[in-house]
Amino acid sequence: MIIQLHHPSSKETVDEAIQFLEAMGLSCRHVSTPDSTLLVVYAGQLQDPRSVRRCPGVSDVHHISDEFKLVSSQWKQGRSTVKIGGNNFGPKSFHSIMGPCSVEGPEQLESVAKFLVSQGVSFMRGGVFKPRSSPYSFRGMGFEGLKLFRQVADRHGLSIVTEVMEVAQIEAMASQVDVFQIGARNMQNFNLLEAVGKSGVPVLLKRSMSGTIEEFLHCAEYVYNVGNDKIILCERGIRTFEGAYRNTLDVNAISYLQARTHLPVIADPSHGVGLRRHVVDVGLAAVAAGADGLLVEIHPRPDSAVSDRDQTLYFDQAAHLIEGGRKFRALREALMH
Ligand code: PEP
Ligand code: MN
Repeated sequence: MIIQLHHPSSKETVDEAIQFLEAMGLSCRHVSTPDSTLLVVYAGQLQDPRSVRRCPGVSDVHHISDEFKLVSSQWKQGRSTVKIGGNNFGPKSFHSIMGPCSVEGPEQLESVAKFLVSQGVSFMRGGVFKPRSSPYSFRGMGFEGLKLFRQVADRHGLSIVTEVMEVAQIEAMASQVDVFQIGARNMQNFNLLEAVGKSGVPVLLKRSMSGTIEEFLHCAEYVYNVGNDKIILCERGIRTFEGAYRNTLDVNAISYLQARTHLPVIADPSHGVGLRRHVVDVGLAAVAAGADGLLVEIHPRPDSAVSDRDQTLYFDQAAHLIEGGRKFRALREALMH
């Protein structure tokens, strides 16, 4: 159950409401986001559910059967919009987030940024801390790379999406990034989730390669639970028996998630299929299934990219996907509404 209080509510009202609920045998957690004051009831049973209506400061009561609460579409109907810089992520917009797997240096960044601006794209991705399967692979340029990335992004008016891998990096990164990416391997790193939540910076949370939808949504709940409602979910492919391609983009998840959560859902066809030749097709399939955006790896010279070169698109392919994504999205909207 979520008890929604009037927003904003004074500390006294919140304390009074918590005492009222505790006296009824309920345990709850107070969550404040920029536009709501909530008490999430996570334990206890009521004899008469109507009695919570007498809770001090109450504006609405939502009964939720899902185990995750704040990210559930059972309390917040309709789709949420996440504001990032001057852009909105959500039902009324479609965004591509593109850039290299790894930040490699100023020329590469400059070339990608120019391309994105020429295509009307507002978000640039690029990893400076890279989770790599082998400790001998290139593991990112670190803070030096982030500084370069910020300079180039600012020069071109772009927002930055980059992965944070550990709690200790958050403070120094928070003022430099527009969106923290939590990578697939860290989906269930609960300490990291809570800490990025507390930073207040928008979060792009990737599903892990073997994470169920239920687990994925519980992870998003960790971020929301500390008051950060700026969350974008990303389906990036799961591991199946199929070995012909790197992963299998779970198109089902894109449609299904939209029914279970109010959060925006995007897809990453680059990691989702892992083969350049198929990234555009799979990306368009994700948009057809309802994705609110795409996260895609591109590079001025994909064949010499230091990481993920087999799935990295050339600019002309990226341009097709950007245009196709917008058209598929518009077609979907025309059909659905
Ligand atoms: C990435 O986006 O480059 C990345 C490492 O993604 P994932 O965490 O989905 O593997
Ligand atoms: Mn990558």
